[in-house]
Amino acid sequence: MNEMLADIKSMTPTELRAEMLLLGEREFHAGQIFAWLTRGARDFDEMTDLSRALREKLKTRYYLAPPEPERRRESRLDGTIKYLWRLRDGERVESVVMSYRHGNTICVSSQAGCRMGCAFCASALGGLSRNLTPSELLDQVIFSEKDCGKKISNIVLMGIGEPLDNYDNVLRFLELASHADGMNIGMRHISLSTCGLTEKVDKLGDLGLQLTLSVSLHAPDDLTRTRLMPVNKTGGVAALMASCRRYFEKTGRRISFEYALIDGVNDTIRHARELCRLLRGAPWHLNLILLNNVAERELRPSSKESVAAFTKILTDGHVNFTFRRRLGADIDAACGQLRRSRILSAPSERSGQG
Ligand code: SF4
Repeated sequence: MNEMLADIKSMTPTELRAEMLLLGEREFHAGQIFAWLTRGARDFDEMTDLSRALREKLKTRYYLAPPEPERRRESRLDGTIKYLWRLRDGERVESVVMSYRHGNTICVSSQAGCRMGCAFCASALGGLSRNLTPSELLDQVIFSEKDCGKKISNIVLMGIGEPLDNYDNVLRFLELASHADGMNIGMRHISLSTCGLTEKVDKLGDLGLQLTLSVSLHAPDDLTRTRLMPVNKTGGVAALMASCRRYFEKTGRRISFEYALIDGVNDTIRHARELCRLLRGAPWHLNLILLNNVAERELRPSSKESVAAFTKILTDGHVNFTFRRRLGADIDAACGQLRRSRILSAPSERSGQG
């Protein structure tokens, strides 16, 4: 791994044009290179409309590091495909491709590991290894699409990691993925999920992007939420909701709240009533889902009876909600499970082997 080489795939077309001028080349080569990068070129020699001299020059200044697919699992139940990618330095991340009536959606990871420590999450178990680069985010979309042969039309940043904890790289990824000369996936087809880093939510809101912000709520009260999500210690639910209100005022975009129903923890009648009070009358949408089992965690998904009682209270309370089906239940599709099982089975390969 040559650390002197620069990450060309994380560059915007404007930056590529400047690079071409620096190299004494014509600006239009930037467009050719950006197109090859978007098509998933694995090597500069694939860029056959560039002269050999320019390709050689590029090799002396930049690197390309396509991820290696280490595992691929496809659900027999619903066709969901989960990838475990091995990155340039041996780190591993996951992506999941899901097919819906409205198109194919990819869930991408934003970090190798996560430091947010949510009690129900496999990604939190080993802590944070490092942030992903914009190119590593983009490559999950490009190479998943190439492998599965399905056109990806939607992106959700809901895989391993907290996207707003890798703010600058994620913003650059959004710019690259939505670029008209690139994958051209519009902001309205992108969702960003956060555990609720309120300062970053405010910062993102100031940009006025038209993406969908999805907030992992998982409990309506501080006691339960802090038990599940340590991030709640900073400001609590009240500060989170205030930040969400500001975000809506700035962007006009309705926020989605995620709520994984956990047996006996956040699925009681009391929780449902408090949730009604918290969300009623505001322009939010609530996505309920059953918790995915994580082998190392004690937490279990709610029973059918609890779900029925919980959702009845929400319906009676006029809360706008959807109870989502779980995709890929037979392939460990929850965040971080595949990476975790790989790390546990091959601890010596965890990093630095690339
Ligand atoms: S749920 Fe998200 S924020 Fe929480 S530990 Fe897992 S990856 Fe991190």
